[in-house]
Amino acid sequence: MGTKQFKAESKRLLEMMINSIYTHKEIFLRELISNASDAIDKLYFKSLTDTSIGLNKDDFEINIEVDKEKRILTISDNGIGMTKDELENNLGTIAKSGSLAFKNDNNLDGDVDIIGQFGVGFYSAFMVAKKVTVVSKAYGEDKAHIWKSSGVSGYTIDEYDSDMKAGTVITLEIKENTDEENYDEFLEQYRIQSLVKKYSDYIRFPIKMEMERTEYPEKKEGEDKEPEPITVKEIVTLNSMVPIWKKNKSELKDEDYNSFYTDKFADYEAPITHIHSKNEGIATYDALLFIPSKAPFDYYTKNYKKGLQLYSSGVMIMDCCEDLLPDYFNFVKGLVDSQDLSLNISREMLQHDRQVKIIAKNIEKSIKNELSKMLKNKREDYEKFFKAFGLNLKFGIYQSYGMAKDTLQDLLLFKSSFEGKMVTLDEYVSRMKDDQKYIYYACGESEARIDMLPQTEAVKDKGYEILYFTDDVDEFTIKMIMNYKEKEFKSISASDLDLTTDEEKEEVKKKTEDSKGMFDYMKEALGDKVSEVRLSSKLKTHPVCLSSDGQVSIEMEKVLNSMPQNGDNKVKSEKALEINASHPIYDKLTSLYDSDKDKLKIYAELLYNQALLIEGMSIENPLEFSNQICDLMV
Ligand code: ADP
Repeated sequence: MGTKQFKAESKRLLEMMINSIYTHKEIFLRELISNASDAIDKLYFKSLTDTSIGLNKDDFEINIEVDKEKRILTISDNGIGMTKDELENNLGTIAKSGSLAFKNDNNLDGDVDIIGQFGVGFYSAFMVAKKVTVVSKAYGEDKAHIWKSSGVSGYTIDEYDSDMKAGTVITLEIKENTDEENYDEFLEQYRIQSLVKKYSDYIRFPIKMEMERTEYPEKKEGEDKEPEPITVKEIVTLNSMVPIWKKNKSELKDEDYNSFYTDKFADYEAPITHIHSKNEGIATYDALLFIPSKAPFDYYTKNYKKGLQLYSSGVMIMDCCEDLLPDYFNFVKGLVDSQDLSLNISREMLQHDRQVKIIAKNIEKSIKNELSKMLKNKREDYEKFFKAFGLNLKFGIYQSYGMAKDTLQDLLLFKSSFEGKMVTLDEYVSRMKDDQKYIYYACGESEARIDMLPQTEAVKDKGYEILYFTDDVDEFTIKMIMNYKEKEFKSISASDLDLTTDEEKEEVKKKTEDSKGMFDYMKEALGDKVSEVRLSSKLKTHPVCLSSDGQVSIEMEKVLNSMPQNGDNKVKSEKALEINASHPIYDKLTSLYDSDKDKLKIYAELLYNQALLIEGMSIENPLEFSNQICDLMV
């Protein structure tokens, strides 16, 4: 068969691997061993129910061979193997997980980033090998196939005559040393041994290698010469085979957890924290959970799948068990291993399994505890976490109609006017002023935008802290929380924002009575755009603002109307136009009411449109607005 070309993306990755200046080329071994182990996992799982496979757990192994003279390193496994099509699809095309890193073309310049931290998979072999050969036979097939490639020029796949059993043999022709690079090390048994210990110790199947050892026999009595040293060859198992979650926490360092995570969950950044728990009692299980440092690129899309790996006494039975995680903690990665679960449990049965439910409840609790602990003791980490996943916690409260509020409300952070920091609700409430009744918040596109709202000034002036709601979901979330430590939330745009003294109220009341006719006239002029035109005492220096009267706030109107599912069913908030009682515009309006009612009408429209612009809403007829202003100018 002729030489085939790699897919464009794969070719680029391959090029990168071949020319890599990356210093940790050694990770290629971890990648190949991890693939071998996955392949064995698959066949082992099959063998539990299919006795015709004829293999027991102890029969499965990964073998490493080194031939120093020929510069050949071989890694073989007796796992599930690959058919011809699978060889084509899996090795001719870069695996899906890898293409992720590729999305970001910037990364292409610095190969260090992708290679070092990403699971770059099979292709990493090309960092150390000038030629790679894969012989594989899929379980259940009669024929084996051979895949060969010396790099970017392409690859070949041919039938391969062999009486091998199912499995895969990967042969690497190791590169020659150059001035800068030493490749010989990958042909040294002791180096290989230490790499396996470092990266692949937990692999559940034995990784075996024939090693040479020199023995120095004791001098026997009566001999006068030291006996010659002898070379002993023996097959050594390089890994301890204890899965990391079965080890004692005291034996493990952060590094161990981190490299297990990046390896297993194809992330390139270490997790922000891990939770390792061993439980006995109603449910006996080990759990190893990770909270990633960053949201995966597809996290906020439908494609993202939540779930934990599920093991039954060390055998993986499900790659992604959704039932173990609530939606609001869907960012958690990890695994659960329980002896209480049957190997043959189906997805449907799992959903109703009592054990699984108990485990899920416990897991939820330990995630919550871990996050609370981080919030308390490692604020910086927590804020980083919150930046990545906070939105999901807010959605959690909203989507549960508040049912999850007890779990989640203390994990929320909001930007606050207090020193411009992120604060918890508890922090806010604990420093509320004695006369302060409410938790004040303001909605807007950005902090800067909120600071420009006329109402912000008055609240700040009172010395009250304001929470800045810049995410669409914020106000919806708070409506579900309703109150926190018996304090209600109050939008600074609410019509009943009550900051005034009795004296001020009295004055506004009097002015309102005096100008009732005028306000009615203005309301008439604006029609159903506003529910009322009235005087306000909550404005300091600004002439006007909008206030929302009903359940739906102005911000909610914006958010709801921007959602595609709402279509033409536009939501409308009840808006009142408020005029600053102590602004000169008030006097101007009253005089126009007496002298020029037509002009007052135009002023009413102008003020309304100004208020809309301040709120960050668009105005219905910008042309008219502009003409009206021009008319006043000329
Ligand atoms: P990843 O492991 O992230 O999927 P790789 O490039 O390492 O990406 O491998 C691509 C695919 O090739 C694997 O998903 C697997 O299906 C297949 N594969 C690789 N090595 C082996 C092996 N030793 N035995 C069986 N299949 C393998």
